[in-house]
Amino acid sequence: MLRKKTKVKREGSTLKAAQLKKAKKLSVAKLKKDADKYFSQYIRLRDSNKFGVAECVTCGDKKPWKQLQNGHFVTRSCNLLRYDDLNCHAQCVACNMFKAGNLYEYGKQIDLRYGDGTADRLHAQRHTTHKLKIEELQKIITDAKEYILENNNQN
Ligand SMILES: [Zn+2]
Repeated sequence: MLRKKTKVKREGSTLKAAQLKKAKKLSVAKLKKDADKYFSQYIRLRDSNKFGVAECVTCGDKKPWKQLQNGHFVTRSCNLLRYDDLNCHAQCVACNMFKAGNLYEYGKQIDLRYGDGTADRLHAQRHTTHKLKIEELQKIITDAKEYILENNNQN
């Protein structure tokens, strides 16, 4: 009797743990989606002038920030650099999508802005694994939203 009771209890807690794990996974996925959205807006606003116009990091084309994208030097699949200020810049659709990021030029621009060797340093980290945590994603979202609120006068 006692043994049976214990077993039931264990099954219950295993189920609960699995549900928790599933819920956590879902909320990380949802948070990542939000973090992508707000971090992208933050990057494009950061790279804009007071009229809300930004230059593509790789070809210099000037466009309203909403027509640009958040271009990653090291691809977004690298969680470590997915929300990194040095790795992300406003970029035009032509460079980001059709020229696959225009990476040779992108690397040169990163070194020009942040110093020689910066692009190499980012590139060297491209395979570093990093598990994004709920709190970390929440902070990225909060910080980005705050920046957007303070700097988006264009709407
Ligand atoms: Zn471009």
